Amino acid sequence: MIVDRLRECANDVDTIGSNSSEYGHPLDRTVGAAARVHRSVIDRQRISLSCLPRIRESAVGSRRPRASNVQRIGNSRTRDTAGAVMNVTFHGVRGSTPCHGSEILEYGGNTSCVSIDVPDADPIIFDLGTGLRYFGRTLSADDPFRGSCLLTHLHWDHIQGLPFFAPLLADGAHVTVYAPAQDSGCSVEQVFAETIKPPLFPVDLAVLPGTIEFHDLRNADFLIDGGPAGDISVMSRSIPHVGHTLGYRVEWNGVSVAYLSDHQMPSDGSFGATDGALELCSDVDLLIHDSQYTDGEFAVKSDWGHCTMDFAVWMAAEAGARQLALFHHDPSHHDDQLDELVAAAATSGAAIGVSVFGAREGLTIALSG
Ligand SMILES: [Zn+2]
Ligand SMILES: [Zn+2]
Repeated sequence: MIVDRLRECANDVDTIGSNSSEYGHPLDRTVGAAARVHRSVIDRQRISLSCLPRIRESAVGSRRPRASNVQRIGNSRTRDTAGAVMNVTFHGVRGSTPCHGSEILEYGGNTSCVSIDVPDADPIIFDLGTGLRYFGRTLSADDPFRGSCLLTHLHWDHIQGLPFFAPLLADGAHVTVYAPAQDSGCSVEQVFAETIKPPLFPVDLAVLPGTIEFHDLRNADFLIDGGPAGDISVMSRSIPHVGHTLGYRVEWNGVSVAYLSDHQMPSDGSFGATDGALELCSDVDLLIHDSQYTDGEFAVKSDWGHCTMDFAVWMAAEAGARQLALFHHDPSHHDDQLDELVAAAATSGAAIGVSVFGAREGLTIALSG
């Protein structure tokens, strides 16, 4: 019964806003006994190997997110599957905390969540912020959900959507979560189990009907089996933030997308990046990058784990990225301000060969091989 009510909550977008008040649903703290969560954890040392074993996930058909706004980006590379498209859709683009209001309608107020959709493959999700709940509403309920999540780190704004992801609240659902190994020695599974439980949350993580499989990662290169779509390559690299944080690069059919949602630039305001960060972004077709602060904001928050829009543009140019999506917008930045900041960044990007746009909820970027 509790899970039924949680499922209703996850699906009710008319009565529940995009801010954290959605946690106010009337679930009590009684926990059912029929936990069906099974989690297999690969320990840190095994995952730290430079090449992971092939990871197989059975495909249950393509579940394409609704594309409310699609930009199509081609490249000159030739592949046997020329013309096949990787869709990258933004479901949450806000940093730090969910927010709402008429002044942010254009970009949206949900926190980090981006999906990658390859034809006939299970979806891959960057981060589990509150945007995840809305991604769940785009998926078919006909088949149990199967997919993977590449989680950058465990700050609230990157995990709060998980228990509100309705497709996971069904028998037979399965999500594989790759996440940064914790310096404390706790497994990611333990951290989630200690976070999603009373009194922080009405029920235990184990009550959710679907299966969550956690893998603790550091620097790694591995493949996700895309079924008929073939292998999807994933690279994870540690990047500077606050606490162990990963950036990711995903490649398939000759196209690539890199995701560095939270990235600390040098605190003295200079421009520079680690080898791992540059490796993730090198010659990538689409770079989704932290751009939380203006120069003035960074001056007083220089060690808060983020960077400026100018740094994001520099990073894209330095690495040879073709397109830059400014991401992880500061909660205080309203639509009009973001329009101005994005326009300025686009101008400076154009001068050095990078196409720049501001990520916003509902936007889909189609990358073709
Ligand atoms: Zn964040
Ligand atoms: Zn963070």
